[in-house]
Amino acid sequence: MKVVITDQCMGDRNCSTLCAEVFEYDEDQLRATVKYDEIPSHLEDIVRKAAKDCGADAIEIIEE
Ligand code: SF4
Repeated sequence: MKVVITDQCMGDRNCSTLCAEVFEYDEDQLRATVKYDEIPSHLEDIVRKAAKDCGADAIEIIEE
């Protein structure tokens, strides 16, 4: 699984609050970023929840 944050990110930091191991808020870009190129399998469920909960629909999941 890979994750992309789109330009729609509104920077409310819900994702990094939910899972700081994967998501990080970039103060310069004013948007969330993803720490992993490939999401470790034990974090996939929480990433799916973050994507579902993202109010801006900015977390795009690419299943492989
Ligand atoms: S939850 Fe969505 S809108 Fe909020 S910071 Fe994360 S990616 Fe951006």
